[in-house]
This record gives sequence, structure tokens and C-alpha cells, in this order.
Amino acid sequence: MSSNVEPAQYDPENIFAKILRGEIPAQTVYEDEHTLAFMDVMPQGPGHTLVIPKAPARGLLDADPASLAATVATVQRVARAVKAAFAADGLTIFQYNEPAGGQTVFHLHVHIVPRFEGVALGRHTGGMADKDVLADHAGKIRAALAGV
Ligand code: AMP
Repeated sequence: MSSNVEPAQYDPENIFAKILRGEIPAQTVYEDEHTLAFMDVMPQGPGHTLVIPKAPARGLLDADPASLAATVATVQRVARAVKAAFAADGLTIFQYNEPAGGQTVFHLHVHIVPRFEGVALGRHTGGMADKDVLADHAGKIRAALAGV
């Protein structure tokens, strides 16, 4: 068993930091002062959405508690909209920390995946989704958030 003496540091060049800076595109469904929600490009099911804080944090453990609280509030808000938009039977909501915990992008994020009775959860980082399909799904979630 190995363990790092120094905890890993936040890398501002991670892909979600680039999304926050507008350097790469994302299918955004919700944004406020503290958080951003957008479609996962390799969804584990239709409607797979990610919620991130705007404040830099590598994972749950180094996040500022106020930023974390804002993130959880956005997770609840977006999760309700995702469930409604996809008429899902349930939701799987999860969050990974460090490579050993399954994390592959090192800016804190929470996954929201709509679930349907009898349908297995898709593979983590399986395949890239079609851009138009992601745009359509983002539109559905934005409409649900707006109460349309
Ligand atoms: P993990 O860090 O293991 O919780 O997973 C990172 C997630 O980010 C995976 O589900 C990827 O499909 C997703 N992902 C990676 N790059 C992007 C991107 N540019 N836009 C949206 N989602 C992404």
C-alpha cells in the first residue's frame, strides 16, 4: 500500500477549469455566482449532468465549505430538473476523489445520472456522445429548470 505524504495540488489547467474560463465549450444547463452545471460528454446514460463549484477545489476534501454547500444546493436544483426532463424513475448521484477513488478530472464535480427501472448504469467514461444529442438534452433540462 502506498500513500502520498504531500496531498496533490489543484491544477488550474484541468479541463473543467478551462470550461469555467470559457476556453473550451460545454453544454451548460445552469449557472449562478458559485456553480455551473453542464452535460457530461461521455454520459453513463441520457441526461448525465455534472455540477461543479466555480471556486477551485480538487475534490470534496479540499473544498471550501461554503462553496461545497452552494454546490450541493445546485445539485438538488439540477437533479430535480434532470429527473423531470427525462421522466426518470430515479437518479444516481456520485462524486469521486483522487485516482484511487475513480476520479479522472481534478476539479470537484458531482455526477447526476437519470435512472430507469431495469436499465443498468452505463460505463464510466465509455464513449463520446453526439454533440446534437447533448445539446438537445441540455435544452430539455434548461426548460425543466425554467418550469416550462
Ligand atoms: P470523474 O473525474 O471520474 O468523476 O469523471 C470525469 C467526468 O467528466 C467523466 O464522466 C467524463 O465523461 C467527463 N468529462 C471529461 N471531459 C469533459 C468535458 N470536456 N465536458 C464534459 N464532461 C467531461
